[in-house]
Amino acid sequence: KAKAMGKGQYHVFDPTLHQKALKRLTLETALRKAIEHQEFLVHYQPIINLQTGKISGFEALVRWQHPQKGLVSPGEFIPICEETGLINDIGYWVFQQACNQLKIWQQTLKNDRLKISINLSVRQFSQMNLMEKVAETVTKTKISPQSLTMEITESALIDNPTHARTLLHEIRDQDIHISLDDFGTGYSSLSYLHTLPIDILKIDRSFINPLSQEESDLGLIPPIIQIGQTLKMKVVAEGIETPEQLEILRKLQCDFGQGYWFAKPLNIREATALLQSNPQW
Ligand code: C2E
Ligand code: MG
Ligand code: MG
Ligand code: MG
Repeated sequence: KAKAMGKGQYHVFDPTLHQKALKRLTLETALRKAIEHQEFLVHYQPIINLQTGKISGFEALVRWQHPQKGLVSPGEFIPICEETGLINDIGYWVFQQACNQLKIWQQTLKNDRLKISINLSVRQFSQMNLMEKVAETVTKTKISPQSLTMEITESALIDNPTHARTLLHEIRDQDIHISLDDFGTGYSSLSYLHTLPIDILKIDRSFINPLSQEESDLGLIPPIIQIGQTLKMKVVAEGIETPEQLEILRKLQCDFGQGYWFAKPLNIREATALLQSNPQW
């Protein structure tokens, strides 16, 4: 083949490409083992009702408890799980864990209104029996589907518009809520969004980050909240890190908030303690 390219031309061996491929393969192998050895765990970050200050629920966020590296964040392994399809197993496992935990909290706290949000990847869209399995788990754990929210990123919708529409309707048919994650970072048209069964807009933290008391520039946050209100969707602000940001968002009538100012993602013990010492609605 090299010959066909003509005299004097060679395939150049690219060491960085080789290294990347090797690293990827190593990670993939490690991830398969991690599934087998059940090295994943779920952390829970509270979502706060900004008007009452009470805990509305939690977002379930997966972590990998690596035997050598310790706790690995999803940004480091979710992309490869999506590429390889491993996300189907991991994603469904997270969903089951979150449902079981929600049931435990609802029972021990005697509060059926506590909610859980679970992230759903693009790749999981093409999982044939995903919604059947979801329905099975909901029935088995006896939680109300209305206490569940599936978070889907705006970019996932744009990448798979046809598939996304079908899946979103399947979720809605089960009375599970739908949240549009990282809203504002994709380029979905508002007329398209308007035709989808979306309940919640989650403003990406890149919009919240620059907010401070001194600056009067609120950026795109007011129009985004306005869009949510017009489309009859609830609005969640992610990445609230300061009391100033919280105050601004509260004044702008943003419904819910999430961020380090309230709490980082917590393990079950910490989240339970938080629930026991704080009011929920
Ligand atoms: P996301 O769904 O947008 O989740 C919010 C991320 O922002 C979390 O990162 C959270 O720890 C972080 N965060 C929350 N508050 C703050 C804050 O005040 N400041 C800053 N700087 N960051 C904050 P995490 O846990 O590393 O997750 C990253 C992403 O990985 C998630 O983004 C989500 O897209 C994905 N992910 C996590 N768990 C799952 C899962 O079970 N399934 C799938 N498919 N994706 C997941
Ligand atoms: Mg999310
Ligand atoms: Mg998000
Ligand atoms: Mg985000």
